[in-house]
Amino acid sequence: MIPFEEARARVLASITPITATVVIPVHDALGRVMAKDVQASFPVPNHDNSAMDGYGIRHADLKDEGSVTLHVCADLPAGDRITDPIQSGQAVRIMTGAPIPPGVDCVVMQEVVARDGDHVAIPAGQALKQNIRPAGEDIAQGSTYLKQGVRLTPAHLGLLTSMGQASVEVMVRPRVAVLSTGNEVVHAGNPLLPGQVYDSNRTTLLTALQALGVEVIDLGLVGDDRDAIRSALEQGGQQADAVISSGGVSVGDYDLVKAVLKELGQIDFWKVNMKPGKPQAYGALGDARFFGLPGNPVSALAVFLLIVRPALLKMMGIESDIPPLLKLPLSGGGLKKKNGRMDFQRGVIQYDADRPSVCSTGRQGSGILSSMAAADSFIILPAEPVDYADGDLVTVQRIDY
Ligand code: AMP
Ligand code: MG
Repeated sequence: MIPFEEARARVLASITPITATVVIPVHDALGRVMAKDVQASFPVPNHDNSAMDGYGIRHADLKDEGSVTLHVCADLPAGDRITDPIQSGQAVRIMTGAPIPPGVDCVVMQEVVARDGDHVAIPAGQALKQNIRPAGEDIAQGSTYLKQGVRLTPAHLGLLTSMGQASVEVMVRPRVAVLSTGNEVVHAGNPLLPGQVYDSNRTTLLTALQALGVEVIDLGLVGDDRDAIRSALEQGGQQADAVISSGGVSVGDYDLVKAVLKELGQIDFWKVNMKPGKPQAYGALGDARFFGLPGNPVSALAVFLLIVRPALLKMMGIESDIPPLLKLPLSGGGLKKKNGRMDFQRGVIQYDADRPSVCSTGRQGSGILSSMAAADSFIILPAEPVDYADGDLVTVQRIDY
């Protein structure tokens, strides 16, 4: 049995990021990973422009005290421009986003002026360059505005569009196959006989993979049958970059996944000193990485989030996505454990403004999937026995799907 950190480190060390890239429309690139650094070929905005609806003036025309009356010589909506410099004594009516005309070095918001026909009175106290957004204030020309390895959010895609890009070069997505095992496991939609459970693991894993943005291959559900497991794993090993199974990795008489993996590929380790999720099988199936998750629904999803997900992020081309840990005071009662396993209890962060804290979701059995549904975080208890009282600081990792 190896410690959790060692298991995760060994898994991460064995992952080779995908190298193939593909060019796709920006509108389809949410969650994809940038393949290259990109530089700005022009500044954004591409001209100095007004940050306000108001009047563009020459600052030198203003007095130290009292107001100055200027002649309104032109009207400048966004989308138009003026190329002739404005002269002393003149003001330009200017709208937000309109390019600053030559000669204008100050924009006065319309709320503070007094307009009378062709004239406008401007009060003293206006600063040079005020309300002018300089060219390149968002993206400077020549700057690297997006880096390789960034997982693209709506804001990143907006940046690409503001640089005029309709398409973007991203990493090809890893293909990840998912298999459920167990004689007692049945498809939802069918009647449930005594002793049977529905296949919730394939749902949690397939959808967690969708959320991650990999290409998903559904290998379905097989019974505790050596040949059926072998042929499903063979298929996964051929088609996918990573194969994830659930169930059949413990020490029971029908735990055949480990045995089949030994025949078809290699096992790196199969026991991790963590709770939930002690039995698991990590290794290789041909060129594919193999993750044999435990069958218990909490264990399967927790091990996915804690070990498999960081590994897949690395495979997608994102360097080291080990999530940051928080220290929060415990609320809602103390937490105690005697065993020697690192414990990932399900918790809920309380966002009280003056004193954020974390509390347990309650019962923590590895079959209690509702504890995962209620949780937004793991409360991480170290391997040694601990006895935390309400208010003690504990280590917390937010759950990200
Ligand atoms: P195993 O790891 O195969 O010994 O399974 C451990 C527990 O998880 C058993 O109670 C199984 O019934 C349950 N289990 C296994 N696979 C699934 C699944 N796909 N969905 C829901 N529960 C499962
Ligand atoms: Mg089983």
